[in-house]
Amino acid sequence: SPYVALSATASSGNVCEMEGDDGISYFIKKKFRVWCRQPRGQWELGTIQTASAEEASVSLSNGNVMKVGISEILPANPDFLDGVDDLIKLGYLNEPSVLHNLKCRYSQGMVYSKAGPILIALNPFKELQMNGNDDVSAYRQRFIDSPNVYAMADAAYNNMIRDEVNQSIIISGESGSGKTETAKIALQYLAALGGGDSCALENEFIQINRILEAFGNAKTSRNNNSSRFSRVVQLASGERSFHIFYQLCAGSSAVLKERLNLKDVSEYKYLVQSDCMSIDGVDDAKNFHQLMKALDTVQICKEDQEMIFKILAAILWLGNVLFQVDSENHIEVVDDEGKIHRVCRMPFVGLPAPYAVFSVTNAAKLMGCSSQELMAALSMHKIQSDQDTITKNLTLRQAIERRDAIAKFIYASLFDWLVDQVNKSLEVGKRRTGKSISVLDIYGFQTFQKNSFEQFYINYANERIQQHFNRHLFKLEKEDYELDGIDWTKVDFEDNQGCLDLFEKKPLGLLSLLDEESNLPKASDLTFANKLKHHLNTNPCFRGERGRAFRVCHYAGEVLYDTNDFLEKNRDMLWSDSIQLLSSCNCELLQLFSKKFNQSQKQSVATKFKGQVFKLMHKLESTAPHFIRCIKPNAKQLPGIYDDSLVLQQLKCCGVQEVVRLSRAGYPTRMTHREFSRRYGFLLSEANVSQDPLSISVAVLQKFNIPSEMFHVGYSKLYLRAGQIGALEDKRKQVL
Ligand code: ADP
Ligand code: MG
Repeated sequence: SPYVALSATASSGNVCEMEGDDGISYFIKKKFRVWCRQPRGQWELGTIQTASAEEASVSLSNGNVMKVGISEILPANPDFLDGVDDLIKLGYLNEPSVLHNLKCRYSQGMVYSKAGPILIALNPFKELQMNGNDDVSAYRQRFIDSPNVYAMADAAYNNMIRDEVNQSIIISGESGSGKTETAKIALQYLAALGGGDSCALENEFIQINRILEAFGNAKTSRNNNSSRFSRVVQLASGERSFHIFYQLCAGSSAVLKERLNLKDVSEYKYLVQSDCMSIDGVDDAKNFHQLMKALDTVQICKEDQEMIFKILAAILWLGNVLFQVDSENHIEVVDDEGKIHRVCRMPFVGLPAPYAVFSVTNAAKLMGCSSQELMAALSMHKIQSDQDTITKNLTLRQAIERRDAIAKFIYASLFDWLVDQVNKSLEVGKRRTGKSISVLDIYGFQTFQKNSFEQFYINYANERIQQHFNRHLFKLEKEDYELDGIDWTKVDFEDNQGCLDLFEKKPLGLLSLLDEESNLPKASDLTFANKLKHHLNTNPCFRGERGRAFRVCHYAGEVLYDTNDFLEKNRDMLWSDSIQLLSSCNCELLQLFSKKFNQSQKQSVATKFKGQVFKLMHKLESTAPHFIRCIKPNAKQLPGIYDDSLVLQQLKCCGVQEVVRLSRAGYPTRMTHREFSRRYGFLLSEANVSQDPLSISVAVLQKFNIPSEMFHVGYSKLYLRAGQIGALEDKRKQVL
């Protein structure tokens, strides 16, 4: 075979190996482009000038000539493929080629590309010139045929109507990569398609989004508007708590402020701890007014709105309740002027005025209980024995934990309740088909220097989503081959079932062992880590490390976890005293939250999370999925900057590499016979030209002696093994 060239194996590159006796000399003779790894790890384009078995001299595109080891060279695609809209169209799918292609597109303002069936969306960090109503109709009528969120939403919609099957649009990526914005774009398009009064529907989406963002989003160091779940009680520097707290303080009327006893944000310990109280360009007061309108839209009445605000204010005041211990180790509540207030034991009724503590009083009043009840719940533990109730003092640490646990629980319950209300308001207008399109905005795979409990379960969820993704993709590939009449020989298919088993197996899996250890009173993070090592060290996806650490081989790479605080975070105890307190409060919502808590069995965080993941997967499995992978091109949140290594790391994490590998196992180049014959048909003699595209394709393959194991001729498409297209291009260039 005349083809080709490099079978180099640079450690991080996916090399498309190709047969060929004349090896590198062919590349040299033809001056093909190659990728050449630089001392600092980045890849540069160049052409080989001379080469020995181990080393080559390469002329780089910047004019320099350098000597590099053969293993540092990868084949590059011919330049006519620069910027193709689907990575699958690339002959070579190695890392520098994929990165280069996305970069070419990004530099021309094209932030969307496909990798087979998945849509890759690079965050532009600036407004794009599109997404108006005109664009909606253009996509609807297929005037525009380029990868785009609209096109994907359109496909989901059409499939739903055509197949009468629920659809899902699954959007993943790391924090700040653009998931939430992308979800909004998809919803906007779907709303516009909704028919009838699409304007009203679109408006409803906007309003709902406003509510979800106010209560569910916060500023982090990675994203000013990050979708978050628990950050009521602890913030790092540069972060804010949920937007709603700042909006409420900034935007509520004087009357409301008085009723809630509301002060400036700077007065609240939960909010000041991070030294970040405003966001450039964000007007919290204005957003609060819009939020109130949004709450009207989803039919949350004024009384309920006030109840929501009361609960929020109560949380802020709770955070200001401070404790200290006296000489007998009793917890005392310290008031804002530093005065000490001892919690008196029974009876918990009307204390004389001097005992009234500012923060406690305010919190209690807003929650609808007495200060004494609140103080007791924060500082004592009641143990119910057969006949008696025994009270035990909490330690300082326990008191603080309990205060924060109540604040978190109330906030989380409030958020869940709001989501229920929003969903109910949508149900009212449930539209004709009874079929749905779910848009899923899910936190992506995470790996940091230090990975804790949060990364542990987020990555577990991603492992599940990845499996769903793999299986779907595999099915699509198979269908594509079969549809085109190609014999489906089993393509080597990597599954991550092993890693999922590591998490889920009972009784010897990570989650079970975590729960088991969390239930042992004497257990510690270290005993947990040791237990894992003892039971799991033979599992290929697991590796015990020194001390409290362990390693998991995820689909996206190895992650080192530190078990510090795993047990405590997993228990996330909410004492029955706290629940009792809430049930006794004169506030409908707090009573409802306590009832809900009692109905749900007391479960560990990991168990609850696993349950949610399963429920989600179950729901997704009955839908036809569409995948969008969001990528953050730089960490500065600025337009126009493309950081190769950051992008590469995300491509790995979000499994683009998997798609690439899957298609490499088969026939990465797919062209319709029409496309193929248009491009290469002229290489044949005149006589062939009048024939149909399929015959022309076959004639081209024959004329250039493409070995039969290198292609498959389908009914509609021609499938070529990696590298073949480069060789044909070369023939084409010779003739032109
Ligand atoms: P994620 O939900 O993945 O954490 P976001 O969707 O909140 O990230 O996006 C982070 C920020 O990036 C947004 O606040 C916005 O400034 C910018 N951004 C993301 N996607 C787009 C887009 N399609 N067009 C313009 N800006 C965007
Ligand atoms: Mg988000």
